[in-house]
Amino acid sequence: TVVYRLQEPSDDSSEEEAAGDTEMDFLRNLFSSTLGLGSADKVLDELTLDGVARYIKSGKCKNIICMVGAGISTSAGIPDFRSPGTGLYANLQKYNLPYPEAIFQIDYFKVNIRSRSSPCCFLFDFYQPTICHYFMKMLKDKGLLKRCYTQNIDTLERVAGLEGDDLIEAHGTFYTSHCVSFCCRKEYNLDWMKEKIFSDDIPRCDKCSSLVKPDIVFFGENLPVRFFTSMKMDFPRCDLLIVMGTSLQVQPFAGLVGRVSKSCPRLLINMEKAGQADPLFGLLGFGGGMDFDSDKAYRDVAHISTCDDGCLALADLLGWKVELEELVKQEHAQIDSQDKKEKAGGKSEAAKSSSASVAPEPKKEE
Ligand SMILES: [Zn+2]
Repeated sequence: TVVYRLQEPSDDSSEEEAAGDTEMDFLRNLFSSTLGLGSADKVLDELTLDGVARYIKSGKCKNIICMVGAGISTSAGIPDFRSPGTGLYANLQKYNLPYPEAIFQIDYFKVNIRSRSSPCCFLFDFYQPTICHYFMKMLKDKGLLKRCYTQNIDTLERVAGLEGDDLIEAHGTFYTSHCVSFCCRKEYNLDWMKEKIFSDDIPRCDKCSSLVKPDIVFFGENLPVRFFTSMKMDFPRCDLLIVMGTSLQVQPFAGLVGRVSKSCPRLLINMEKAGQADPLFGLLGFGGGMDFDSDKAYRDVAHISTCDDGCLALADLLGWKVELEELVKQEHAQIDSQDKKEKAGGKSEAAKSSSASVAPEPKKEE
């Protein structure tokens, strides 16, 4: 019945820690409000994008964690399959699914993955990472990115240049696949999987003939263990949390915003405010909801815009704008030339035409 719980098997120490933290927060708040000691916790000089930029430039902000969701990939043409009214959602009707998420459910996947007209096909198309993806790559290159926690399975973070260690793919990824047999577990790459699917083969293991399944977290499956181990290491050390393109509604991912220290600033770049404290949070003893607007707001900043615009604006304030635009231009040109090579080879032609109906939006480049 309790929704706001981190489902973490066979280890309740973190919950005890969380309870301890909450008590400490309560005491700290009590002291600060009665003795006026609150100022030590205020890191940003202003709760705006400028304030965040000045903090990043100050040199005190060394470990930035990004938490991202479907909103960072929509400008790449990848629809958010959970939002009603988007192309993909509407498009799924022709597959006669019991409900849209069924395309990611393992039983359905086993039966239907082999078809070129499979609804999963859109994931194998050649999409280009967005400005927002490359902004995170810049954070990495500048030594500021502690980790990127993504809910997306489209692998665009990897295409943009984030590597395995930079990333926690909370809901898994299509980038790698594994044989489902517990005795085998042989790993396969994306190219192997693409080839199987586009040649209408059922993806079967070369070694043991069992089914091979992408490493995405299917509904009803557990999150990767790495999600939980990294979370404990990363969030207490975080100097700035940047949340982009997610409405923070899927647990346990959403609960991560409450895992940074009380003084850690949190920037939300999204089309609407999200993650704000719910009266329930208080009742359940879990602090940590976002507070952008109240009298007590001291660290949360909401920048309401697309993720690309927000990242460009922040890059501009940091003096990185030209560099970011240059990076996007170069990387997109390189992807385009690869794309042309593949097309010339005739390899992905069928994939292109079949996915055109799924994602009718043209690629944004300029
Ligand atoms: Zn196998």
